[in-house]
Amino acid sequence: MSTFKSINPYTQETIAEYAAHTNAEIEQRLAWGDRAYRHLWQTTLEERCEWMQNLINLLKTHTEEHAAIITGEMGKTLKEAKTEVLKCAASATHFIQHIEEMLRPKPVKSDAQQSYISYEPKGIILAIMPWNFPYWQVFRFAIPNILAGNTGILKHASNVSGCALAIEQLFLEAGFPEGTFQSVLVNSKNIEPVIADPRIQGVTLTGSTAAGISVAQLSGKYIKKSVLELGGSDPFIVLKDANLDLAAQTAVKARMQNAGQSCIAAKRWIVEKPVLEQFTDKVSQLLSSMKQGDPMQAETDMGPMARPDLAAELAQQLQQTVAQGAKLALGGQYKDANFAPTLLTGVRNGMTAFEEETFGPLAVIIEAANEQQAVELANQTPYGLGASLWTTDLEKAQRLARQIESGNVFVNAMVRSDARLPFGGIKQSGYGRELSLEGTHEFLNVKTVYIA
Ligand code: NAP
Repeated sequence: MSTFKSINPYTQETIAEYAAHTNAEIEQRLAWGDRAYRHLWQTTLEERCEWMQNLINLLKTHTEEHAAIITGEMGKTLKEAKTEVLKCAASATHFIQHIEEMLRPKPVKSDAQQSYISYEPKGIILAIMPWNFPYWQVFRFAIPNILAGNTGILKHASNVSGCALAIEQLFLEAGFPEGTFQSVLVNSKNIEPVIADPRIQGVTLTGSTAAGISVAQLSGKYIKKSVLELGGSDPFIVLKDANLDLAAQTAVKARMQNAGQSCIAAKRWIVEKPVLEQFTDKVSQLLSSMKQGDPMQAETDMGPMARPDLAAELAQQLQQTVAQGAKLALGGQYKDANFAPTLLTGVRNGMTAFEEETFGPLAVIIEAANEQQAVELANQTPYGLGASLWTTDLEKAQRLARQIESGNVFVNAMVRSDARLPFGGIKQSGYGRELSLEGTHEFLNVKTVYIA
C-alpha cells in the first residue's frame, strides 16, 4: 500500500506516515462532499459566516499548535508559520465582511421585465496544493468558495499530510456540515479519476508549471473549469532614484522569507547601473547578518528548505550559473535541506538563474543600463506572476508598470497576496485569479435569470 511520509526537514526525522486513501475511501469522500454541497446550498449565508467565524476563533486560539505542524513538516520558522496561520484568520474575517456584496445578484437592464445575474455554487471543487504555504494556499481557495456554498476536496502535497488533515479537522470543529472540506491522501499520478468524477465541478492547482500542464490537460479532457497558480521568476527592479535602504531591506525579505520558497519571491534583482554598487553593498550586509538554523527557535531568521532534494536542485542551478560566468559573492554551502543565504552577482540573461525559476535562498543581481533595459530584462522570462518596482517617481512607476508583463506589480513594496486584491499570473505562471471579487467568482455559476 502506498504511504505518505512527513519528515522534519531540519532534523530529517520521520514525524508520521500516512496510508494513501483507497479507491473506496476516495469514493466515500466524493459522496460526502456532494451531499454536503446539497446541504450547504440550503443553508443561509449567515449560518456559513457563523461557522467561518468559529473557524477564525479556532485559528486564533490554537495559532501556535497549527504553526508547529507547518514548521515540523516543511521547515519554515515558527514565526513565519504563526504569521501564515493568522493571515488565514484575517482573510476569513475580510470575506465574512464582504461576501454578501460579492454574491448579491446583479440587476442588468435588458428587454426583459427583469433580468439579473445570480452567483451560485456548483458543487465540489478539487484543490491541488503545494507545501510552501500549506495553510494559506488552502485557505485562500477554501474561504470564499465555502462561504459561497461550494465544498472542497484537497489533494495536498505529499510531504504535508499532517497539515491537510489538521485543516480538515478545523472545518469539522468549526461546525461546518460533514464533508464540507475534506482531504484525500492520493498520489498525483492517481488524480485523474478524481478530476474525471462528475461530482467534481472545478479544479484549482497551485504548484509548478509542469504540474499545471498536466492538470490543465486533464481538466480540459473532462471539461472542468480550472484555475492555475504556477511558478514565477519575479523581477525586483531597483531604479537609480529608489529609496535604496528600503529597497535593499525589502529585496532581502522578499527573496529569503520561507527560505526562498515562494512563488512570488523576488527571484531576479534587476538594478540600474548608477546604484548597482551601493545596492550590492547594502544587500550583502543584510544577507551576511541573517541567522540560519533551527526553525523552532525565536532568533532564527531562516529555516531549512523543505527537502534535501530541493536543496540539491538549487545547488545545481547555482553551480551552472557560476560556470556560466556569474560571481558567487556570498554563501553557496548546503547540507541536507539547509542552504545558506546565497548571493550571485554579474548574472545575465541566458544564465540558468535568470532563465529558470530558482526555488530557494538564492539572490541574484542583474545589471541594467537604464530603466528601459530594466523592463526588457524583467519581461525576458516565460513567467508572469508578480513584479516589484522601486522608484520615487510615481508617474514613471505607473508608466513602467503598464509595460511589465505580470499579474501583479507592486511599487515600492514587495509582491504579496492580499484578500482584498486579485492574485494570479499570466504567461507560464497560469491563469485565473484567487481572492477578491474576481477570485470568488471563478468557481461560481454566473447564472443569467431573464423574466419576460
Ligand atoms: P509541485 O511539485 O507542482 O506540487 C504542487 C502540487 O501539485 C502537489 O500537491 C503535488 O502533489 C501536485 N502535483 C504535482 N504534479 C502533479 C501532476 N502531474 N498532476 C496532479 N498533481 C500534481 O510544486 P511544489 O514543488 O509543491 O511547489 C513549488 C511550485 O509551486 C513552484 O513552482 C512555485 O512557484 C509554485 N507556487 C505557485 C504559487 C502561485 O500562487 N502561483 C504559490 C505557491 C507555489 P505531490 O506532492 O503528490 O507530487
